[in-house]
Amino acid sequence: MEFEGIYLKESSIILSDKNFNLISYDWEGRWYYAFIKGYGYRKGLNGRILKKKRLFIEEVGEKERLNREIFELSLRILKEGKIKKEKKNLKIDEAERVLKSGIEFWKENEKRFYEIYSDISILPPDQYLSIYLQLTEGCNYGKCIFCDFYKKKKFKTKNKKEFEEHIKRVYDFLGKGISLRKSIFLGDANAILLPEKEFIKTLEIIRKYDDKREIFSFMDIFTGVKKSKSFFKEIKKYGFERVYIGLETGSKKLLEFLEKYQNPEDLKEITLRLKDAEINLGIIIMIGIGGDKFFEEHVRETVKILKSLPLDRKDIIYFSDFVIFKDLPYLKKAEKEKIKELKPYEMETQKEMILKGIKNIPSLISFYNVLEFVY
Ligand code: SF4
Repeated sequence: MEFEGIYLKESSIILSDKNFNLISYDWEGRWYYAFIKGYGYRKGLNGRILKKKRLFIEEVGEKERLNREIFELSLRILKEGKIKKEKKNLKIDEAERVLKSGIEFWKENEKRFYEIYSDISILPPDQYLSIYLQLTEGCNYGKCIFCDFYKKKKFKTKNKKEFEEHIKRVYDFLGKGISLRKSIFLGDANAILLPEKEFIKTLEIIRKYDDKREIFSFMDIFTGVKKSKSFFKEIKKYGFERVYIGLETGSKKLLEFLEKYQNPEDLKEITLRLKDAEINLGIIIMIGIGGDKFFEEHVRETVKILKSLPLDRKDIIYFSDFVIFKDLPYLKKAEKEKIKELKPYEMETQKEMILKGIKNIPSLISFYNVLEFVY
């Protein structure tokens, strides 16, 4: 960004200086992205901060020092910087007021976050800046041996009253910062599993508070196959735009090994029903999962299933590099079966082979690094 100073946008406030430092704030005065001395930082509403330089990502331990540095730099830019506005009605005195709220306000916010949400484990990369509504908590299945996201959470659903209360608290918490958030994501792992009528009721409730943002959610194949054509058509009327499905692999054998007993073939029927309702898909494929033993099978079966789906330009296929979390049964099982983990260059080869196999599919291809997630 060439501009030095304070740039007021409808969605955010961006501060930048001559040393190429840059800080982005929401309109409540919470910073969420910073580029300082060559490092990129992303901060979640819960106060977690990730630091990134090229492929290197780490969680920031000393948040206090970084927050102070960012606050002081912001005040300096405020004092000296020029002002630019995306729209005339954006007010500099309002921006100055929220930017001065600073460190104590950020701490308070982090506490408030945990009064509203239990941990948010993961989102698709294009939904990191969504409004997260935690209709359910955890995963109702929870047995996949490679998955660490919801291990510590007991599965729960909110009833209508609790959900409505939750929405009010979320919108109140986000305050003016809501202008940064362009969509609504229904969490956690599989919120769509509620009985059809109940799920539609929850969308009606959302529309009482937000009549414009599109709605997104994860959905697993076990659940999707049980949902009717008319259900998908109905939720589309409420602005439900895309489901994200963790296919992981097209190989039934590998899925059995992973103890995720879904039938990839069911994805064909689900895709037909979704496309009929004009709902888009995000399909997640794991690169490297199953190691050397399943290498060929994973490539072959994944390409086969993806090619059989009526996907279009509005769908996204995500490639997510498999991360082996310690203490999960995957590691022990792989060791027992003498499965070797893929090396980085082998993961690249596997990705390229799948990409080559699906080159005629018109959907967007995107990369998904679960270690980069922060909300
Ligand atoms: S991979 Fe999906 S279905 Fe399996 S345990 Fe994790 S969240 Fe649940």
